[in-house]
Amino acid sequence: ATPTSIMVGTGRAAQMGVLLRKGEALQQLKDAKVVAVDKTGTLTKGRPELTDLVLADGFEYSAVLAQVAAVEDRSEHPIARAIVDAAKAQRLTTPGIEAFESVTGFGVRAVVGGVKVEIGADRFMRELGLDVAHFAAEAARLGDEGKTPLYAAIGGRLAAMIAVADPIKASTKPAIDALHALGLKVAMITGDNQYTARAIARQLGIDEVVAEVLPGGKVEAVQRLKAEHGTLAYVGDGINDAPALAEADVGIAIGTGTDIAIEAADVVLMSGDLAGVPNAIALSKATMKNIG
Ligand code: ADP
Ligand code: MG
Repeated sequence: ATPTSIMVGTGRAAQMGVLLRKGEALQQLKDAKVVAVDKTGTLTKGRPELTDLVLADGFEYSAVLAQVAAVEDRSEHPIARAIVDAAKAQRLTTPGIEAFESVTGFGVRAVVGGVKVEIGADRFMRELGLDVAHFAAEAARLGDEGKTPLYAAIGGRLAAMIAVADPIKASTKPAIDALHALGLKVAMITGDNQYTARAIARQLGIDEVVAEVLPGGKVEAVQRLKAEHGTLAYVGDGINDAPALAEADVGIAIGTGTDIAIEAADVVLMSGDLAGVPNAIALSKATMKNIG
């Protein structure tokens, strides 16, 4: 590729809202065999809403929601806002908390009125020695609907299962179809549970799912997918995507994402939707073909 053609290609990409931070990105995109994507905030809006709260015996709805929201008020995870908003909508007053702690990839905990309140994924509950089997059927059903089941433990007892649903962006499915039309495979890498991840993948026609990935595990998943398929582009928006963006042959950040993800990326999608990915790949193929 001549410097001129790359300049022209870079300009054309910018017109489509695709910012190329590195010249090589335009050359590498044409060779991409697989596009790996983060789920929350990339495929989905990243603004989940609380949809279900199922109580264990002996627990009361308003009390549980107020205690859980009090803890989540201190968390920055999108799930946390869904829970806090639900409590606000019910006009619940949240009690004061102390000793807040966030366990990345697992959940959050704090002490509320002298009682320990812990909220997170099933693996978090297992770590606490709590058995979530009581909610297994319900969790599987909600997961199959693409909702994410979470659990709340209060005073060391399993108190509730809470489900949140994060809507898929309207632009996601057409972008995945366009990637398939270009002959690429699409893989999803997420910290969310298997059921939910598979349900979302099914709705979108995603080829491969790597679920229940702990923070840090995304890099390993990228390495494995690269070895299996060849040149890989990774698309993500979060702080926890930065290492995977750096590890990919081409790192693509969602422009509405965190600064840390944008810093780690070779390409930035200004519009914040996935459509820029097939557009950029198609442009790369066209630009490079012209030069031979
Ligand atoms: P992702 O960005 O794919 O959701 P994370 O590593 O951020 O991955 O989170 C993984 C899982 O940990 C979440 O799906 C959720 O089950 C649990 N989790 C993380 N933070 C919270 C929180 N503040 N409240 C409840 N659960 C949480
Ligand atoms: Mg994300």
